[in-house]
Amino acid sequence: MANTVLRTKSASTSHHLPAKVFEELEIVRDPGNLFHQTIEQVLIAADLVKLKHHQQIILAQPKNEIMVHFPVLMDDGHHQLFKGYRVQHNNTLGPYKGGIRYHPDVHIDDIKALAVLMTMKCSLVRVPFGGGKGGVRCDPRKLSTDELRRLTRRFCSAISNQIGPDYDIPAPDVGTNAQIMAWFADTYQQMMPEHTRQGNNRIVTGKPVELGGSVGREKATGQGLVDVLVEMLPELDIDISDMTFSLIGFGNVGGWTGRLLEDLGAKLVAVLDHSGAIHNDKGISCHDLTEHVAQTGAVGGFSEAAAISQSDFYSMSVDVLVPAAMEQMITAENALLINAKVVAEGANAPTTPEGDSVLEERGIEVLPAILCNAGGVTVSYFEWMQNKSSLYWTAEEVDERLNRHMILAARRVKLARVKYECDMRTASYCAALEQIGRAYDLTGVFP
Ligand code: GLU
Repeated sequence: MANTVLRTKSASTSHHLPAKVFEELEIVRDPGNLFHQTIEQVLIAADLVKLKHHQQIILAQPKNEIMVHFPVLMDDGHHQLFKGYRVQHNNTLGPYKGGIRYHPDVHIDDIKALAVLMTMKCSLVRVPFGGGKGGVRCDPRKLSTDELRRLTRRFCSAISNQIGPDYDIPAPDVGTNAQIMAWFADTYQQMMPEHTRQGNNRIVTGKPVELGGSVGREKATGQGLVDVLVEMLPELDIDISDMTFSLIGFGNVGGWTGRLLEDLGAKLVAVLDHSGAIHNDKGISCHDLTEHVAQTGAVGGFSEAAAISQSDFYSMSVDVLVPAAMEQMITAENALLINAKVVAEGANAPTTPEGDSVLEERGIEVLPAILCNAGGVTVSYFEWMQNKSSLYWTAEEVDERLNRHMILAARRVKLARVKYECDMRTASYCAALEQIGRAYDLTGVFP
């Protein structure tokens, strides 16, 4: 495909504002609310694909919002009450699917937004799942291993009647990992009748390989992002084997993306995380930085790079900037500083709508999150299938199948961009919604 496919200027979509749906659902729009922002963007795409009105209002709210409070015995002997959520947005295309995050800023509207994004993501990459998301408001850095285990077991038991291996399947997200999935799966399996134990290991994905996890799941989000870049960058005149990039976040997604890009010849020149920003013009070794982060918990103090300010980080000239940390990091203010040709969204919803507009005005291409970070849920689907069939795949098989899903999804977004004459984010939602709309057309609404 020619360069024009990616460089087509987006059509102005502001006149399609989905105010009617907001009014009908009595949602008082708050511009700073991630759920409202997300629904608004999805509804703009829904208008473009001419999604039927009743389908738009169904998708504008989650099907179920579950909130639980549960006590956990802390190491010092006192009990602390925690708040947890599971939001089930839509299951038209398959069981609800999505991660569980442990973070002090877990709020219901953010979880709702992330659940919507899971519905869109699964549809875009054509994995037969709907969208869900969960979380517990806590600071996992401040909890001991024993406290984390007890919290995970209590949270699992609190929501156990609302999830299921063919109904709603959690996975890791910010602040959770394979160990937490192991405790979660074990708790669920212990709570169910013993003879159902085997089938119930599908209750979560992202498990350790020894407990039925898939090889390649840990690196999957980073690998999927790299697959998307390999497909997209040549059309943007960027040679991946010779490019520079910077990362926001060096956790699972940032770390894997960095190492995989480095293995392809790309050069990491700057990283920003909660400890500050670091920079080295000659390149930062992702493999060395991984060791440093494993020992110290953050990128700050890495001896092979110099400390820089946040604004210097954003102004750094790079080919590709990968935000791979929390939501809403790229604000209008940061977007004005960004000196990259492409922003490839490894995190969910890392760009505010204002940030988006600034990037678009400045001609910086944004490769949207539901495409770039869909590798994680895609390999989650592979894990779930392998658990179902008890037939386990090799790393090569996983990589090859993941690559196929990612490339086809990237092409779907490019085609939608041309068809609907819109920006890449809107195009990614259009491609996702086309399929959801067809599914609803086939079933109709019960009864
Ligand atoms: N938490 C990841 C995401 O946001 C993975 C979800 C999953 O594997 O179900 O895509």
